[in-house]
Amino acid sequence: MIDLDAVRADTPGCAGRVFLDSAGSSLPPRQVLDEVIGHLRREAEIGGYRAAGERAADLEAGYGTFAELLGCAASEVAFTDSATRSWLSLVDAVPLAEGDRVLISEVEYAANAVALLRLAEQAGARVEVIPSDAAGQLDVAALRELLDERVRLVSLVHVPTNGGLVNPVREVVDAAHEAGALVLLDACQSIGQVPVDMRELGVDMLSGTGRKWLRAPRGTGFLAVRDEVRRRLRPRLVDHAGAAWVSAREYELRDDARVFELWESGVAERLGLLRAARYALDLGIGALSSAVAEGAATLRAGLDALPGVRTHDLGERRCGIVTFTVGGTDPEDVRNALWDNDIAVTVSSVTSSRIDMARRGLDTIVRASPHYFVAPEQLERAIAAVAGLR
Ligand SMILES: *Cc1c(COP(=O)(O)O)cnc(C)c1O
Repeated sequence: MIDLDAVRADTPGCAGRVFLDSAGSSLPPRQVLDEVIGHLRREAEIGGYRAAGERAADLEAGYGTFAELLGCAASEVAFTDSATRSWLSLVDAVPLAEGDRVLISEVEYAANAVALLRLAEQAGARVEVIPSDAAGQLDVAALRELLDERVRLVSLVHVPTNGGLVNPVREVVDAAHEAGALVLLDACQSIGQVPVDMRELGVDMLSGTGRKWLRAPRGTGFLAVRDEVRRRLRPRLVDHAGAAWVSAREYELRDDARVFELWESGVAERLGLLRAARYALDLGIGALSSAVAEGAATLRAGLDALPGVRTHDLGERRCGIVTFTVGGTDPEDVRNALWDNDIAVTVSSVTSSRIDMARRGLDTIVRASPHYFVAPEQLERAIAAVAGLR
């Protein structure tokens, strides 16, 4: 169980506003804020190199923290500056040749889709879309039909940017592995709100961000890749963090996931990310994910009961993202009117998840993503505010 009063007391931003945008960029707890600001102050006092040196042990321990969070080994974790940077580094390292195939789901995220289309174009490979089933999640039977020995990679979005759907991971992994394909899980919207255990799910690689459900600062991201999978990848654009420069003409790649890291990084933000991960682990991923799912279900049911309001979330299993439209009102007007009532929601557009939105004839929808620190009476206030828009 989450102690609501305690987590709300830890969250300075949640008092004056009904904050429903943790799928966009969440409110960090004060522990994260203190860590980041404290380190920036220390850098101002003694310089960034010395300040980082003082925290070297904590920075190193961070790999273990994320191994615990993600269900992998510390050697399988790397830190980056965003989920997209993580995803790009991984996908670019998958060897692709003429005639190879890559499969994506209908809820593929725009950044991933663009990158893949470009990589495939350069390699002479093809990107194909796996259909969804009647419930709206990835259709595993259709995936099995599509798989053959030319499929190098299945890109799976765990939770899409534009809805409460949770895609089935284990079934996708089993099917892909039988055909010899790798699975890259975009866990950007799941980590911090849905349990993600790499070992249990069997995924080969995953990417995630700090700024969303983990409540870390912006400009932070991470990846994980199974050791035996990494040895089959071909990381490009490696610097002297990912490899040692051992003689004028020679370098030696690192033998762990940090081969994907660059030397420079925001140390204050990294410390904030590690603090945020520890905060989530201390609350318990099971406890926080039940609280998130429960809050979202309350919100979804409340909105669905309003005349003229429709929710749009797909899938058999649902999480903390609630999407809706209000009659013929422009979703941006809904967002702006709610903001004027101290309720923060955002709008999800066809440009972020084109295949899925176009298929459903949607251009923009309102997205509300309540985290565990949103109080039940705040959800009721949001529902009443939406009712008042009609
Ligand atoms: C937000 C998002 C991303 C990208 O995250 P960045 O922080 O912008 O790198 C990737 N995938 C999904 C599903 C997202 O919602």
